[in-house]
Amino acid sequence: MALIQFEQLSRRYVLGETEVTAVHGVDFAVPAGQFVALWGPSGSGKSTLCNLAGTLDTPSEGRVLFEGSDVAALSDDARSDHRRRNLGFIFQQFNLVEVLSALENVMLPLQIRGTPPGECRERAREALAGVGLEAWIDHRPAQLSGGQQQRVAVARALVTRPRLVIADEPTANLDSKTAYRIVELMRSFNHVQGTTFLFATHDQRLLDQVDRRVHLRDGRIETDEDATA
Ligand code: ADP
Ligand code: ADP
Repeated sequence: MALIQFEQLSRRYVLGETEVTAVHGVDFAVPAGQFVALWGPSGSGKSTLCNLAGTLDTPSEGRVLFEGSDVAALSDDARSDHRRRNLGFIFQQFNLVEVLSALENVMLPLQIRGTPPGECRERAREALAGVGLEAWIDHRPAQLSGGQQQRVAVARALVTRPRLVIADEPTANLDSKTAYRIVELMRSFNHVQGTTFLFATHDQRLLDQVDRRVHLRDGRIETDEDATA
């Protein structure tokens, strides 16, 4: 069974008189362990598809199946429970809490799950060591470079050992060398921990590390390419 599957998924936005179809009839399944790129130009529907995959948005039509069950149809509470238990998110803007240290930022998702404080601290420290930031755990986001802030965000997304990580343009605010290193870092978690990744990018240069390239154009899948062959 697929870890996540999109079935005839569509999302329309109504803006006054006009209707925008952000995602149209998208159909594909991601097996556990795959590192998948959603690739396409700005406006092609990558963010919308990420938000639907992450149950942050609900489809106009179609289903989002996570291990076979329709998570888009769940109640708000059940969806947030699903997100807490199964998903990790990485965003373009890092979305770190400015008043908290790197360590405290990474502890947050564990605290929300009710993990005991000592264990939160220990696991957050390990996660930060895992992204090469052991020397920076007491720094606040503003004291870190963009690449380092995104590493903190990667640690925060992975500290709960999610089944699926959704990374929406995680490298768009980084220079090309740092961007490449962030993709390498995500890829290493995919290899070592078997975490499945849905990675949205408009940057074709970052596609050489992925298993599969799903090319979106105007909200539809243009090509779906196995990159392991
Ligand atoms: P991408 O992430 O590839 O840049 P998006 O998913 O953000 O693409 O956008 C796809 C299309 O849907 C675009 O035409 C965009 O303008 C439109 N869109 C996205 N979000 C909204 C929204 N909240 N309201 C109206 N239109 C939206
Ligand atoms: P990364 O090491 O994650 O690739 P960069 O390439 O952006 O990050 O930064 C290279 C190095 O420059 C960092 O490891 C850090 O030591 C230093 N650095 C960059 N920006 C800052 C900053 N705002 N404050 C402190 N150190 C910084």
